[in-house]
Amino acid sequence: PVDRSAEVQEARLKLPILAEEQVVMEAINENPIVIICGETGSGKTTQVPQFLYEAGYASSSGAIGITEPRRVAAVSMSQRVAKEMNLSHRVVSYQIRYEGNVTDETQIKFMTDGVLLKEIQKDFLLSKYKVIIIDEAHERSMYTDILIGLLSRIVPLRHKKGLPLKLIIMSATLRVEDFTDNTRLFSVKPPVIQVDARQFPVTVHFNKKTPLDDYSGECFRKVCKIHRMLPAGGILVFLTGQAEVHSLCRRLRKAFPYQKNNTCSAVQSAVCTPLNVVLSPLLFPQTLPKIDLSSYSVVPVDEGDEDRDGDSDADAAGSDLDLDLGDGDSEEDEKSDSSLPLFVLPLYSLLAPEKQAKVFQAPPAGTRLCVVATNVAETSLTIPGIKYVVDCGKVKKRFYDRITGVSSFRVTWISQASANQRAGRAGRTEPGHCYRLYSSAVFMDFEKFSAPEITKRPVEDLILQMKALNIEKVSWEGLCAAAAFKVVALRSQKQTERLKQQLAAKLSCPISPLGRVMATFPVAPRYAKMLALSRQQDCLPYSITIVSAMTVRELFEEFDRPAVSEAEAAQLKGKRARFLQMQKVWAGQGPMQKLGDLMVMLGAVGACEYSGCTREFCEENGLRYKAMLEIRHLRGQLTTAVNSVCTDAGLYVDPKMQPPTEAQVTCLRQIVLAGLGDHLARRVQAEELLDDKWKNAYKTALLEDPVFIHPSSVLFKELPEFVVYQEIVETTKLYMKGVSAVEPE
Ligand code: ADP
Ligand code: MG
Repeated sequence: PVDRSAEVQEARLKLPILAEEQVVMEAINENPIVIICGETGSGKTTQVPQFLYEAGYASSSGAIGITEPRRVAAVSMSQRVAKEMNLSHRVVSYQIRYEGNVTDETQIKFMTDGVLLKEIQKDFLLSKYKVIIIDEAHERSMYTDILIGLLSRIVPLRHKKGLPLKLIIMSATLRVEDFTDNTRLFSVKPPVIQVDARQFPVTVHFNKKTPLDDYSGECFRKVCKIHRMLPAGGILVFLTGQAEVHSLCRRLRKAFPYQKNNTCSAVQSAVCTPLNVVLSPLLFPQTLPKIDLSSYSVVPVDEGDEDRDGDSDADAAGSDLDLDLGDGDSEEDEKSDSSLPLFVLPLYSLLAPEKQAKVFQAPPAGTRLCVVATNVAETSLTIPGIKYVVDCGKVKKRFYDRITGVSSFRVTWISQASANQRAGRAGRTEPGHCYRLYSSAVFMDFEKFSAPEITKRPVEDLILQMKALNIEKVSWEGLCAAAAFKVVALRSQKQTERLKQQLAAKLSCPISPLGRVMATFPVAPRYAKMLALSRQQDCLPYSITIVSAMTVRELFEEFDRPAVSEAEAAQLKGKRARFLQMQKVWAGQGPMQKLGDLMVMLGAVGACEYSGCTREFCEENGLRYKAMLEIRHLRGQLTTAVNSVCTDAGLYVDPKMQPPTEAQVTCLRQIVLAGLGDHLARRVQAEELLDDKWKNAYKTALLEDPVFIHPSSVLFKELPEFVVYQEIVETTKLYMKGVSAVEPE
């Protein structure tokens, strides 16, 4: 029996899924595979594992496993469930790529989808588990899709063995036909349970104009207006990335400072929420049009009508609760106003868990909560008390060029489905409002749904993963279901044929010994290849470090962010100067410098470890502490992996690693070239300079457009004739990251 606190009991009873416990459990008892759909916030992630636990599905010999596409959800949900059930983290635990708190007592285990995939590699039947829950299946992350495919094979195999495994697929949308109607996936259609969440109406307000690029500024102005003019209720802002989130947080904190002792007293609180008094709460809900969040074929009445004149304040006020805040900007927003404290919190994936947890707590009395988030708040985490959503309409996504394999982060428009999910966040506890910072015409041009990741990723990752799973045993049909089931439906006929041939060709030849070694390393194939080639000249410790750094990414702090005050600007400037100095030191001397950015990474990690990898050292030298910890962890993991393949290597992670010798650097450059050989770029020659856009540019074999060395690279001034790069990132131009020089033969 589970011993829950009264407070937890009360909160649970409000969750829609609790009313369905019996239906859910009956379906699970009677079917091997069950699909559960329910709006975000209905209680799927936190409650279904508890139902199963209470029904006796977990024991020390067989756990309940739950996969999440995002690390932040795995960590935060395991903590929440442990707390609700009054159980220790030894029993309700999590595992993400670099860390976890799993013990041999663990009975409920939250993990990222990648972690479970790796486990399948070791134990295809997943014999440690009695139940697997695939959460957030609607997100269609690549690993989730692959997992569903593999589990569709594992479940019947386990049944045959007399050790049945239950599979539960959970989705925040009703769009599950891809899973239910695919007979190659599930020969018997699994039952779908719908949890009817109480969703309050959300009024959607479109901007009349779509800001060209300053959506961050537009967010700021909108939040200011909401906070000044509208009744109490939390604000949730969707932005695209960590740097943006921080800069908006700073601006808002400056505009509406909150100090522990400046909150309004109860008497004054009317000032904090000026309209609260004027607007009867009763009047409020009834005047809001109900909109169907799952269908926008019709733009809601009154909304998005761009020709309607809403510019005059009188008009907006007169039309009662129209709440048209206008698209315009006003100067006075920048003034600081401490009589209206706003409790501003950031939320994004890389944020430390204890800071993430703050969004679940009630804001201090007399303040209004404002969470500035990336799209982790879209479906993974439900923030309580949100009444207003400000949606910039954008998302930052990694793009893979299918032909060149070049990956880049780009900010793009979201899909209509995402926009509707975001709007829905405003209507969890009472009727709400969503302010879309784009016009309804732009919205109509959004894709209906975003395409599953698997249709975009380069196939090489997929193939190596599959091969490592000994997928040769599985037929093409199985593979289709396992990995590429939606590829078949979503790519064109011709693309599918080609993919099929590619896969078949690669699968028909047995995996090479090198390939088998590579597959045991928990990194991308090209990095695995680098490791596999590093036995010469005692290069392994160095390539392990370089590969770890390249895998973890974003080692260095961002200094380009806009500062809110002069003091901060000065501080950033100082930090940047210090960093540039250190960068030169880390880049080494003479021939070492040719290893370029990779040498800087190696030097930075070496220096950081030498100092004991402390937070202070990182902050002082412009390194991201969290990234350094991850690198340390991955170095340990890779060292163990290499030791287990090369039993005579006897490697260990040396905190006092000496810099590589010249001979080793030469060797490392060859290794890097082997791993990144397809990422070769050649500096455009003077005689080829027909167009100014090619000034200082590089040409790659695969791209039409010029690419550049980023000003932050140590090779920026040097511009070597040939370079290899880790990846190309598109910001204002196409920039190469992780650049290292190559000698022409
Ligand atoms: P779903 O998975 O259906 O989207 P969840 O199970 O994640 O729903 O959330 C159910 C409820 O639990 C939400 O109201 C959410 O705000 C609350 N909740 C989740 N995590 C926490 C937490 N760490 N602290 C407080 N409340 C939380
Ligand atoms: Mg959930």
